[in-house]
Amino acid sequence: MTAGDAKLDRVLGAKSAKALDSALGLSTVGDLLRHYPRRYAERGELTAIAGLEIGEHATVLAQVERVSKRSMRARRGTIVEARITDGHRSLICTFFNQAWRERELLPGRQGMFAGKVTAYRNRLQLAHPEYQLFDVHAETGAEGEEAHSAAEEFAAALIPVYPAAQGMPSWSIARCVAQALDVWDGTEDPLPDELRERLGLMGLSEALHMIHRPHDPSQVESARRRLKWDEALGVQLALARLRSASQDRPAAASPSRSDGILASFDGRLPFELTAGQREIGERIAADLATEHPMNRLVQGEVGSGKTVVALRAMLQVVDSGRQAAMLAPTEVLAAQHARSLEGMLADLARAGEIGGAEQATRVTLLTGSLPAAQRKQAMLDAASGRAGIVVGTHALIQDRVSFADLGLVVVDEQHRFGVEQRDALRAHGGDEASPHVLVMTATPIPRTVAMTVYGDLEVSALRELPHGRAPISTSVVPVAERPSWLDRAWQRVREEVAAGHQVYVVCPRVGDDETAGGDPGDDEAASSVADETEESSPEGDTRQRRPPLSVIDIAARLRAGPLADLRLGVLHGRLPAEDKDAVMRAFSAGELDVLVATTVVEVGVDVPNATAMVIMDADRFGVSQLHQLRGRVGRGSAPGLCLLVSEAVAGTATRERLDAVAATTDGFELARIDLQLRREGDILGATQSGRKSGLKLLSLLRDEELIAQARVEAEHFVGDDPQLREHPGLARMVAELVDEERAGYLEKS
Ligand code: ADP
Ligand code: MG
Repeated sequence: MTAGDAKLDRVLGAKSAKALDSALGLSTVGDLLRHYPRRYAERGELTAIAGLEIGEHATVLAQVERVSKRSMRARRGTIVEARITDGHRSLICTFFNQAWRERELLPGRQGMFAGKVTAYRNRLQLAHPEYQLFDVHAETGAEGEEAHSAAEEFAAALIPVYPAAQGMPSWSIARCVAQALDVWDGTEDPLPDELRERLGLMGLSEALHMIHRPHDPSQVESARRRLKWDEALGVQLALARLRSASQDRPAAASPSRSDGILASFDGRLPFELTAGQREIGERIAADLATEHPMNRLVQGEVGSGKTVVALRAMLQVVDSGRQAAMLAPTEVLAAQHARSLEGMLADLARAGEIGGAEQATRVTLLTGSLPAAQRKQAMLDAASGRAGIVVGTHALIQDRVSFADLGLVVVDEQHRFGVEQRDALRAHGGDEASPHVLVMTATPIPRTVAMTVYGDLEVSALRELPHGRAPISTSVVPVAERPSWLDRAWQRVREEVAAGHQVYVVCPRVGDDETAGGDPGDDEAASSVADETEESSPEGDTRQRRPPLSVIDIAARLRAGPLADLRLGVLHGRLPAEDKDAVMRAFSAGELDVLVATTVVEVGVDVPNATAMVIMDADRFGVSQLHQLRGRVGRGSAPGLCLLVSEAVAGTATRERLDAVAATTDGFELARIDLQLRREGDILGATQSGRKSGLKLLSLLRDEELIAQARVEAEHFVGDDPQLREHPGLARMVAELVDEERAGYLEKS
């Protein structure tokens, strides 16, 4: 009998073990047993060939329709071509110099064929597929002296189809799994009996047997439910432990004062806080007053006024003689935040200057691209405590800038700032007090994502926009079908400018010599364009598309033609920092009419006079990103206009995605659509490297209830026993789920 962590070569032949490892990264019995079938084929049912995608490694159940052999023209040798069919469509399998296949692939025989789907002269084909033909006699139920090697695997009513790879077809995996199941000791169920009984979950051994070798679909269902619980509970336990560890850490309390800088600031706010801003403000004030670190996420639509909320929190900390750091995803945004915080604070930001208010503090910008002398001064201001508020990019924390007394870290607009980074943040103060952490995002978060990706945080939502905010209207400009609409779009831009407003034109790429999409000068923008456009494009046919439109080309075209008489500026991540800053300043000051930019304008940029945005190649952006982008307009009282220019044709999934963005400004609805379109692993993977491998069956989209239940259970287990000492199985589950690095951390906590 073998334990789950036994190496596969002890159980299987060395050759199979090696193939499983190199093709699929499976090295232990446990790895293999958790390599679940992707689907199940019913015996006699053929795979729909129409559903295959080019480039996919497919496993197809089909029937041989015709087979032929011919000599190759150019070289010596023969080609055997077998046409296999699902009854509607057919697929060509080609074999070179294997003439004997002609005698095996007899018309009428059924089997499984595996290989990479390619297109050759407009026909789908599998080049050199691997296959297993079903035993002819098994079909009729005849007892066979000629029982085939494949017969046993294919005898069941449900044939598991595994995620396969070159050299490891599904049926070989099935055979290896069967061998592993036979020798596996099956004793290590991590779930406590009590929990299983209460939830009606089957044991681990039973579940693994059933998911690999089910007799009927209901067995698959029950097995999946049980195994999903393992995944959900593992994640939730890890997060619950993180929360509990963080709550146990000390933090410096910053109670609110009635006579400090916050009170002065409130007294001169030019507007009234919205009800949401006030309510969340009170929560945060209470959090900051406790001696344990705050861990809070504020999500609020673009323009909902998160900056004021953050600033008020920072001022409360400054009131206790401590410092606050505000981290933005890009330098442009950091510079803008520093400017706007200073603007809002006015003389309250001019401590030590003539005309500075009595309780005044200082706001310091600290970014990598500052000139050396200025940077040094900024570092000094942070270290000496002279700066009450330090604004920078995330590098601020990674570079271990020292602070006199860091009380609060605000992370703005950062969906890629994952659990680990936040955790590192909390540990920033070493063994002493941890800073409070406030994360702000404009990307609405579906409940399941909040419970997983942001599961270490308390979430509050800012739902209402300040009064007097004008609505944004969005339209698709389908240039493939209506080329003249593009001219009309530029006409609209000129009208906006004539009315005294400003306009953004956004392109997916910088231009010049770079190859892939994205803006390499700006990490955040680059990765989000690359990730979201490639991966969320459901057709996946990015191969023959022309390169995305670029800022440089479009700016040149607009200058030469439709917008020749307007003042045009260009902004992208590859500009030197001072140029970026100068362009942004000029645009904010109204010295430019049109800003042609990459997604560096995606987050947080605030120019209320900008009323329109034209997004070129809009289909190259993800749903959430488009929503974020258009949030840059309509920030003042004039109505906003967003035009999504795209070659996507009506009826395609790409076009539907754009139509969805045009149809609603409800960020939560769009977040759901986005989640549907993205591969879930990427959502988790992007933020939590270690969890990627952990979630195989659990779906953030479909398993909302289960995840919520698991969260409650996890709270109970961890609440009673933070180290899970009484439940070694659960503790093991948590440790297995997270990667080595994370596991190391969990032990420390
Ligand atoms: P976001 O939530 O997208 O970060 P901001 O904080 O940048 O939004 O706020 C958008 C604009 O709304 C800013 O110009 C800000 O000054 C303004 N604002 C914030 N709160 C209010 C309010 N309660 N009433 C009116 N205007 C407000
Ligand atoms: Mg903002």
